[in-house]
Amino acid sequence: MNCWHCGTELIWGGDHDTEDNEEYDIVSNLSCPNCHCHVDVWHPSEKLIEEYKEYDKNQSSLESL
Ligand SMILES: [Zn+2]
Repeated sequence: MNCWHCGTELIWGGDHDTEDNEEYDIVSNLSCPNCHCHVDVWHPSEKLIEEYKEYDKNQSSLESL
């Protein structure tokens, strides 16, 4: 994955389990060695993925009406 700002390949700093967060279960830290931007990637939990699936289902059933 490249830096949003300068396009340099980001360096992965590690994955961490989130605490007290029902929607995202893992956060990955990446940083840019060129412009020193910091990027956190929040990985959705099973619960949030299910919610999005439900949402998509509802959206597509609305479209077919
Ligand atoms: Zn950068």
